[in-house]
Amino acid sequence: MNHIRASAMGLAQKCNQSFRREPGEVLVNIGSEDASLGTAFHAVMAEAVRMRAETVGELDREILDAAAAEDVSVEELRELVEKGIDAMQRIRGTFFPPGQTEHAEQSLLAAVLPGLRLTGHIDWHAIDFHKRHAVMVDWKTGHLTDADHKPQMTAYALLLASIYELMSVTAIVVTMRDGRYQEHIFQPANLRDAEVNLQVLADAPPTYSPGPHCSRCPRQVACPGRREYGALAVATVTKGTIAAQVADLPAVEVTHLYDQLCDVEKRCEEVRAAIRERVQRDGAVAGDSATLTMRTVNRRRLDPSLAWPVIERALGGVTPDLVDIRLGEVVSRVRAAAPDREKAKAEKQLYADLADAGAVQTTPTYSIKREDTTRE
Ligand code: SF4
Repeated sequence: MNHIRASAMGLAQKCNQSFRREPGEVLVNIGSEDASLGTAFHAVMAEAVRMRAETVGELDREILDAAAAEDVSVEELRELVEKGIDAMQRIRGTFFPPGQTEHAEQSLLAAVLPGLRLTGHIDWHAIDFHKRHAVMVDWKTGHLTDADHKPQMTAYALLLASIYELMSVTAIVVTMRDGRYQEHIFQPANLRDAEVNLQVLADAPPTYSPGPHCSRCPRQVACPGRREYGALAVATVTKGTIAAQVADLPAVEVTHLYDQLCDVEKRCEEVRAAIRERVQRDGAVAGDSATLTMRTVNRRRLDPSLAWPVIERALGGVTPDLVDIRLGEVVSRVRAAAPDREKAKAEKQLYADLADAGAVQTTPTYSIKREDTTRE
């Protein structure tokens, strides 16, 4: 039986092969730092709802535990939870009639259609059985503009309506970073349409529809559709004449070309990262014509608050347009302000003063160095 997760509904609508699996197929776990922060945030907010927390201080223990479990910044998590509690109180006061039973982090499963299992994990919801209406909330730790949440909310509404035999559902998407709310209202006609559309999706002939969305698909590693798309993308962007043709291409072809270019760049970056890992693990890799080694570059950044007094002194008062205090910009300003014979000395003094003030942070970055070893 096919299985669609509500959170993957947007992807399923772009490619109906994304929710189908070959037996034994290796799937990619699409994780990221943002995903870890999101997981930690959801765990803490489930407690916040259960405890009816009113201040972030009531959740100190949960924040520390969740941050440690997901290896994310405690401060960043606390900041998000503070916003979450604020949103929770406002939503409870506006949308949730008092006295209803609320559910936080409840797993839902439903066999909505023949041959298709739809599942979802709803962050927070309450049901008015008398009115046969539910209100549900979905916390997003990204920005509202990041994605179209309608397909996912439609799937959640369908799940709630089918399990509890409801007539209507209000879904509220809250994006924590920009504090915005998006309300989706599903009436009986919307729910009926959603069910029909899901059935159409499940019954449609399996077709690979590759594109930029493949980077969110768990099947991307072994998918023949994506492989073909990648080969086509490489052939297109490496075609000798393509750069010269761009000025005259129709707009639709320019956008396709751009998507293909991004795909090729992403694959190159993946392979480059794998080579970097190999050199880091094994040391120098010597081929027949070149040797690859690891190069370390120390990138220096200024701490604005510590650097500011040093810069003011060095420039004799900061010019009003100097709002971006990158180290390179400050050095060139100081050199420009110094007399011709004093430029190197002024630069050296600036570095010494910034170091004394602890205003320069150094972060090492690693890249591959290629040395040609071809013998004449
Ligand atoms: S990798 Fe792309 S083409 Fe393949 S199943 Fe996923 S979305 Fe479809």
